[in-house]
Amino acid sequence: MSANEGTAPAQPFGSVTAPMMVTSRTQGGEFTPWRVEPVAPLDLHPASHALHYGSACFEGLKAHQGEDGQVRLFRATDHAARLRGSAAALCLPVPDQCDVVEMMHAAAAANAQHVPPPPGALYLRPTLLGVDANIGAAAAPSAEALLYVLASPVGDYFADPRALAVRVETDLPRSTPQFGRVKAGANYAMALGVTLRARNEDGADQVLFAPGGDVQETGASNFMLLDDERVVTKGLDHSFLHGITRDSVLVLARHLGYRVEERDITVDELLAWASQGEAALIGTAAVISGVGTLIHHGRRTRVGTGEAGPNTARLRAALVAVQRGAAPDLWGWTEPLLPSATPRS
Ligand SMILES: *Cc1c(COP(=O)(O)O)cnc(C)c1O
Repeated sequence: MSANEGTAPAQPFGSVTAPMMVTSRTQGGEFTPWRVEPVAPLDLHPASHALHYGSACFEGLKAHQGEDGQVRLFRATDHAARLRGSAAALCLPVPDQCDVVEMMHAAAAANAQHVPPPPGALYLRPTLLGVDANIGAAAAPSAEALLYVLASPVGDYFADPRALAVRVETDLPRSTPQFGRVKAGANYAMALGVTLRARNEDGADQVLFAPGGDVQETGASNFMLLDDERVVTKGLDHSFLHGITRDSVLVLARHLGYRVEERDITVDELLAWASQGEAALIGTAAVISGVGTLIHHGRRTRVGTGEAGPNTARLRAALVAVQRGAAPDLWGWTEPLLPSATPRS
């Protein structure tokens, strides 16, 4: 197999891990220098805090191969900052910002042979776990933690180019005010049953959480409305995950001359918007994926033509061009691999 003929694009998103990972454990609450190791089962005590009391969080970012052959991480510094915020919310030891960034770069460097060519990418999954072995620690934080960065060659998250069908859920929230902004598995656990029900009952791909009619986000992506002039998405608050893709798309949209509105969206406005505008999911995995159908109380409403719209496609193209180094990065988002991240040890 040649260098970049990875295992990626034909496999379901995230089901294949690249061979190397980067790890750092704490000792006395301080993170030790990171190491590159082969991916293997973790040495984890069965009483580990994360397994019982949910002290676990993660990040998801991508390394892209440019047309010039260079590999660039997209906004790794921002992902590291968000991981630190999640760690603090879970009362876990907070790793140093520079160390997290370096570990991300090291995971990409150690798996450089496995970065698929566009439209694929190497998805990086930094993960932080509380590892104190004490099942009595229900109301105590974990003093010790394990941080590791896995890598996975990926194609498109929504491999099917068909626009998505989304059930609008107005009774249940995705998360809680304490954890809306925290990238923790616990939020996914809460959304899973709701998403499976929407799949079984309505054939929906995803659930858009809009408790009390307040449109927030789907189980794993932010949400926006768009048309030829405007991009509309909920303003930052405690109810949803502050996506780095969301931020990037809003910056690009302003740059391209769209009017950006960060404000509340009601379900009534959403359903009315569907007749003339576009809707999309946005996130590292989803990139920008068009919504073709909304399902509310069993009633199906077509969004625009039912296909991903032209503004969705335009913003997606603008974003991936910056990620791949094919368009100027005016914002300092792309990070060529750090020399300090080349494997030592
Ligand atoms: C990760 C995530 C997103 C997307 O965030 P990005 O930084 O754009 O990848 C959106 N919503 C939820 C719930 C998430 O976990």
